[in-house]
Amino acid sequence: MKRITTVLLLGTAAVAFAQGTTFLTIGSGSTTGVYFPVATGMAKMINDAGQGVRANARSTGGSVFNLNALASGELDAAIAQNDVVYYAYKGSGIQAFQGKANTKLRTMAVLYPEVLHVIARKDAGINTIADLKGKRVVIGDLGSGTEQTAKQVLEAYGLGFDDLGQALRVSPAQGISLMQDKRADALFYTVGVGASAISQIAQTVDVKVVPVSGNQAASLIKKYPFYVRYNIPAKSYKGVGATVPSVAVQAVLVTPTAVPEDAVYKAMKAAFGNEAELKGLHPSLAQNFSYEKAVKGLPAPLHPGAVKFFKEKGLNVK
Ligand code: GLU
Repeated sequence: MKRITTVLLLGTAAVAFAQGTTFLTIGSGSTTGVYFPVATGMAKMINDAGQGVRANARSTGGSVFNLNALASGELDAAIAQNDVVYYAYKGSGIQAFQGKANTKLRTMAVLYPEVLHVIARKDAGINTIADLKGKRVVIGDLGSGTEQTAKQVLEAYGLGFDDLGQALRVSPAQGISLMQDKRADALFYTVGVGASAISQIAQTVDVKVVPVSGNQAASLIKKYPFYVRYNIPAKSYKGVGATVPSVAVQAVLVTPTAVPEDAVYKAMKAAFGNEAELKGLHPSLAQNFSYEKAVKGLPAPLHPGAVKFFKEKGLNVK
């Protein structure tokens, strides 16, 4: 975050430019995911409001990258999975954050469910997660939350990355090509339903969605309580005719305490004040977002700017 007070001298007239403006770089994910279109849309709403906060969205590898970049000050806000936010806040749970608790993390809002999509080529003979053994599997991008989901879900089925034929750590865009070229048999992606990467694969490759259910889902949820059961609705993607049981976490917008209350409040008012416009950014928001749900199950405390915003909306928050 940069706070810049600049005065441009034009002839004799002194024009205050960007006086006291707060600049927010919002970390997102792949351009084919849901974080990116949502963060881009929010940045536009913040800029259009002209309230002294300027925002831009940055494409990144995903949740783990975003939380590291928030800790280093490279990002000022980010969208990330609630489980990964919690691990970063506590400094535990996953290797990347071990012993590095970022207690200055704050929640702005819980956004929408991110559902584990395990997409398999129909010709790869994969019907269950257990069938991934020996297969070439896209496990998520470097710095993704997807990789963490993949690890935990495989573990619930008694598998590790070493049991796969290949664990491909690539961007969703590369994952699409690998699936199309038959260089990957399956792909993990923890992402809002309707993500363009999954739609693109389903449109160009004969695929099935592999279920996560039964005892394995139960033991996953018991060990990692941020997961909930979630059914991917029939017809969400081309060729997927039936509902498929899976699990989900939540996408959350977070920011450090270093961003001032006033800037966060103004950003929230611009991005969340008009619920209809917000919901227009993506079907995941349209179908799931509400102010009530935005403050439930917080992985880190609310930022004071968010508290102010939600109080104005009549919610009992602190
Ligand atoms: N949940 C994914 C991750 O953290 C990103 C999803 C998205 O970009 O929409 O890796």
